[in-house]
Parts: sequence; C-alpha cells; structure tokens
Amino acid sequence: MAARELPRWTHPWTTALARGVGHALVLPECHAPGIMSNPKPPPSPAPRSETVRQALLEELRRTAATAWELSTRLGMRERDVTPHLEHLARSLRARGERLAVAPAHCLRCGYSFDERRSLAKPSRCPACRGERIEAPRFRIDAGDG
Ligand SMILES: [Zn+2]
Repeated sequence: MAARELPRWTHPWTTALARGVGHALVLPECHAPGIMSNPKPPPSPAPRSETVRQALLEELRRTAATAWELSTRLGMRERDVTPHLEHLARSLRARGERLAVAPAHCLRCGYSFDERRSLAKPSRCPACRGERIEAPRFRIDAGDG
C-alpha cells in the first residue's frame, strides 16, 4: 500500500497534507505549526543600548560631566546622550543610586534652570533671552545621599 510508504510525520496536519497531495511531501512546511517552542531571538537593538548606558554609567560614577563631554568621551552624538541619561535616571533608583543633575544656567544673567525637567541643554534663557547657556552637569550619587 502506498500509504505505508509515506514518512511518519509528527504533526497531523502535515500527514493530511501528504495524503491529499503527494508532492506536498517535499515542502518544508513540516516545521510550521507546533514547533513554535523553538525560541527565536527577537530583532532588537537592546544590546547596543545597554552597552552605551553601561559606559555612561561608569563615566558618571567616575566624574561629573555634561552631555557634550560624555558624547566626546564615548564617541557618540550629544543628542543621543540625553535619552540614555533619562533612561538611566529611571533605572538607577532600583539599584540604590540616582542621577544627580547640576542645573543648566545662563552665562549672561545667571538664571538657573532649576525647575527644568528635561535633561537636554536649554537653547535660550527665559529671563534675558541670552543663548550662552552652561549645560547641565550629571553624576551618579548614592541614593541615600
Ligand atoms: Zn539669562
């Protein structure tokens, strides 16, 4: 009997397919359903980001720095530093550390951006409209300090 010569498929739907259409046996579809437990790594840029944040963390534990200083030390763009710092600020709490920020201030009138939430450097002083702004400076503190 031809049926006995068919290979033994482990998945019922494949067996049905093989019975119905003989040439379906050559299709690689025996891997489709039921074997989804085989884990595939998701396409994710996470490792790279983790590496960057780790480098930022080590740099800030060593010394206080502005985003621009960090960007030159780590060879990245200044604008890419800030999002990582914001992520660090959130994740550090769980480790008993925190990101300390010395606020940006205006070099012309001395206005201090104490209330500013964003970690990015302000572009203009709200008090005198001056554009010479000393960037905020960051460091890592122990959480109970
Ligand atoms: Zn000012």
